[in-house]
Amino acid sequence: MKTPVTVTCSCGRFRATAHDIAANSGNHVVCYCDDCQLFQHHLGTADEVLDEHGGTHIFQISPAKFEPIRGHEQLACLRLRPGGLIRWYTRCCSTPLGNTLATPTVPFFGLIRTSTQTVDGGGDVEAATGPVLCGVYGTYANGRPDEFRVYDKAPLWLLLRFMRKMLRWRFRGDGKRSPFFDAGSGRLRVKPHVLREEELAAAIERREAPSKSG
Ligand SMILES: [Zn+2]
Ligand SMILES: [Zn+2]
Repeated sequence: MKTPVTVTCSCGRFRATAHDIAANSGNHVVCYCDDCQLFQHHLGTADEVLDEHGGTHIFQISPAKFEPIRGHEQLACLRLRPGGLIRWYTRCCSTPLGNTLATPTVPFFGLIRTSTQTVDGGGDVEAATGPVLCGVYGTYANGRPDEFRVYDKAPLWLLLRFMRKMLRWRFRGDGKRSPFFDAGSGRLRVKPHVLREEELAAAIERREAPSKSG
């Protein structure tokens, strides 16, 4: 069953609907990579978003299925380093939203799971997205979960599954219906902030520090 998921930032100024969420409509993965962890440490949301092993729950969907409803002006993005992945969050309260590439020609949106997401009509977001397919970049994980397999990198079968879906979205023209890019120019709607050296260093320092939750 496909169901809409409401994505709200913690202060409530930004709201979006992720349409047609179902196990088959995307890829539910947990990413343990260094950069996904640093993104949360930079925003100050690591304790809330990262699981006990440092993983970020990501559901890769078509960007055309992510529809901002209010607070469009709160959409902000950053890169940890020049040329890196585009990581979206809200300007108002630094709620992480997800990631894209810097071009709409590889259309996908890696929606990041946060506690403020709700399934319309009730129910669990995990039930809507289906179980985790696998964990990736496990070399950066802090211990291993028992519930699903964790790979050191992204396994080939996952890349192929991603390619199949992404190409379908691309042929459908979903890249042009992405809320993150201007349909005409194909440029990012918001200029990404590239972290300054000291901002990145501060995020690394916070990751090294013992977490508040222990
Ligand atoms: Zn907010
Ligand atoms: Zn990652």
